[in-house]
Amino acid sequence: MARPSAPKALELVSLVITDYAGIARGRSLSRSIYENNPAKTLGWVPANMSLTPFDLIADPNPWGARGDLRLQADPTARFRTALPGTAAFDIVMADILELDGSPWECCPRAFLKTAIADLKAETGLTLIASFEHEFQILGAGWPPAPCFSLSSLRRAEPFATNLMAALTEAGLEPEVFIAEYGRDQYEVPLAPAGALPAADRAVAFRALVRECARLQGWRASFAPKTAPEGVGNGVHIHMSLTDGRGRPAAYDAARPGRLSAAAGAFAAGILQHMPALVALTAPGPVSYFRLAPHHWSAAYTQLGESDREASLRICPAHTIGGARPEKQFNLEYRAADATASPHLALGLLIRAGLEGLRQKRAAPMLYSGDPTTLDDGERQRLGLHRLPASLGAALDAFAADATACAWFTPRARETYTGMKRMELQLTAGLDPQALCAKYSEIY
Ligand code: GLU
Ligand code: MG
Repeated sequence: MARPSAPKALELVSLVITDYAGIARGRSLSRSIYENNPAKTLGWVPANMSLTPFDLIADPNPWGARGDLRLQADPTARFRTALPGTAAFDIVMADILELDGSPWECCPRAFLKTAIADLKAETGLTLIASFEHEFQILGAGWPPAPCFSLSSLRRAEPFATNLMAALTEAGLEPEVFIAEYGRDQYEVPLAPAGALPAADRAVAFRALVRECARLQGWRASFAPKTAPEGVGNGVHIHMSLTDGRGRPAAYDAARPGRLSAAAGAFAAGILQHMPALVALTAPGPVSYFRLAPHHWSAAYTQLGESDREASLRICPAHTIGGARPEKQFNLEYRAADATASPHLALGLLIRAGLEGLRQKRAAPMLYSGDPTTLDDGERQRLGLHRLPASLGAALDAFAADATACAWFTPRARETYTGMKRMELQLTAGLDPQALCAKYSEIY
């Protein structure tokens, strides 16, 4: 009998989706099989979308044990890099399809694609975006180092170098490696891209950060808070608009805040729906430890210029070295975190912004300052409404926003809110410390 030959080196490609819990899930196949047939689809199960972050399926849910779906890779959204000390990292973002190839009603990536297409069809505008993630390194056993310090940067080696190299090779265009304010907290902004690639990159980014930390024997956590008294980990979503010819369309030097009429209407739509949006962009019970005043995150419906407590911040644009402000100009949505699917979050921001454009809404009043120092009447006059203070309240605000509800099919809405209500039930008895610890293990 012939001796079995040694197994050939094999590489895997993973088809990846993000679900309603903001978790990247997927299946892997051999690289040669994928490359010989990139259109090949893999099986998927509808009830997976009802999974809580704790791997328990919400009960009840609209799907049960029935039904079948297919994952189809988008070859234009492949992120590959050879990491030292492990198998190559190779993921392809996938769409969740019905068996006839039509998009599944709960697919977050389809949700984003439809929003992009509707914005373009109705207004001629295209959204450019970038996700800016903060994360903390856990388990490194480092002695404390001053925030923003060179010591913080150096002690992160070789993680920092490996990560920047991996992000670059995978095509994520990292801009800076930052030692942030929080304990063992870091951040790497990525270059802006189209809305779909920006959300895809957010998924690859989280995975690569985790992977590089894992290779050091640490854990990277993107949980909105890893400790109740600690600094929050935000996901800041930067957005700008271009017109049909690719020219910047969010900037108008003559208007308040330098916000073009279109960008003003877009911002107004986002502020109007923000109390509902946070149920999907900051959707963990722990998210609300972060979305509080004086956390440099987001607590009110507030459009502010260069104000890091504004939920929607007009970012600074400089002219150093001849830089053109209209090219840098962007709005930053700060009421998001990594318990949200990037595709769903960005799709919702486009939907809300488009609603503002449809209604030709005037730009919101600009307010930079501390809303907690104002009285109720003053806040009312300035349109500063406190965002929901818990996930339960956010889900109620979502249910009360008929426009936002109509962005989903009834079954998709039932799937989302059913899963989130179950998540609340499963975490009801936990004190803030235990809650943060639990979410740091998952996100
Ligand atoms: N860590 C803050 C947050 O939770 C943001 C700080 C910053 O402006 O970078 O959003
Ligand atoms: Mg930051």
